[in-house]
Amino acid sequence: MNLRIALLPGDGIGPEVVAQATAVLEAVCRKFSHVLETQSGLIGGTAIRATGNPLPDETLTLVKSAGAVLMGAVGHPEFDALPPGKRPEKGLLRLRQELHVYANLRPAICYPALAALSPLRQEIVEGTNLIIVRELTGGIYYGSPRGIHREDGEASAVNTMVYTRSEIERIARIGFNLARGRRKQVISVDKANVLENSQLWRETVSAVRDQEFPDVQLDHMLVDSCAMQIVQNPRRFDVVVTENLFGDILSDEAAVLTGSIGMLPSASLGAHTGLYEPVHGSAPDIAGQGIANPLGAILSVAMMLRHSFHLEREARAVEEAVAKTIETGVRPRDLKGNDSTEQVGRAVIQLL
Ligand code: NAD
Repeated sequence: MNLRIALLPGDGIGPEVVAQATAVLEAVCRKFSHVLETQSGLIGGTAIRATGNPLPDETLTLVKSAGAVLMGAVGHPEFDALPPGKRPEKGLLRLRQELHVYANLRPAICYPALAALSPLRQEIVEGTNLIIVRELTGGIYYGSPRGIHREDGEASAVNTMVYTRSEIERIARIGFNLARGRRKQVISVDKANVLENSQLWRETVSAVRDQEFPDVQLDHMLVDSCAMQIVQNPRRFDVVVTENLFGDILSDEAAVLTGSIGMLPSASLGAHTGLYEPVHGSAPDIAGQGIANPLGAILSVAMMLRHSFHLEREARAVEEAVAKTIETGVRPRDLKGNDSTEQVGRAVIQLL
């Protein structure tokens, strides 16, 4: 297969982790005889410095002609004083919009050797392997009317949670399809005891399940109950499907199960090009020292192979190499070890 990948290393530790993820991608392509073509583009603070724009037109052209996009991270304190529309983070927000990615996938896996690093007790987090599917382009973050109104000495503010049936159907399908490749259990999270929006959500997810995925088990859970159960009994979750705001909160909560933010990959999917990036930011406090954990970026490559190119064997090979790397005791600083970013990347490639 021919894989055309746009690389957007970005700021801070972004280039360091993307370099290792790219080396793993090259290794997996060699091993399985695929042809890899990569081209790099600017985004974030590095793009502002070079062009004045956090997402230059050349980068947009590049990502639109690619089969998938691998991003590092954006953000640098040097730009913190700029208005929101001019900051590096704006480049990423626009990139997501331009790619029309509406589903954000965030797996949270607790590797046995890292269970002791979680702030939760080891016997609770051990064996956790869940994935949160968050709707990314609708809901209360985008609904109108919105705004703050000040009148007669009083102020009021409004935001609107809107979903159409078709928006709910397409995200539900992503969740059910994912579940088919896993333990076939979907938990749909809403607040249907209070919100009409959630009542439509629940009714629509149930209908998609009944009509198209009768082989997948579906349970509904209220978001407050889910927030509690994710830290009480994370092993009971396989695929969690939820709307934008609930998913934003729950995916960060689930992140603490895993031991370190440096371990977490993500995928953002839409109709066309998928965007893959580690969950962490540009970590300016450790940038340039060669000590960042590249495993979140490397696991994002595994997600890319699976979701953009349907190369399941290759994706599993990368995931297994990461698991073995951890088992053999290779550890970057955030996992309480001394191995450099490059040493961790090399270990993954060797085990691949
Ligand atoms: P951060 O994720 O960059 O860092 C939080 C902490 O985790 C830091 O102590 C950092 O050293 C550590 N850390 C993060 N990734 C690591 C890794 N791979 N290996 C080892 N340690 C790691 O979050 P922050 O400090 O809140 O934000 C820094 C900048 O990144 C800000 O400008 C923010 O806007 C931006 N940001 C970007 C993204 C993105 O590009 N998707 C996401 C979050 C934050």
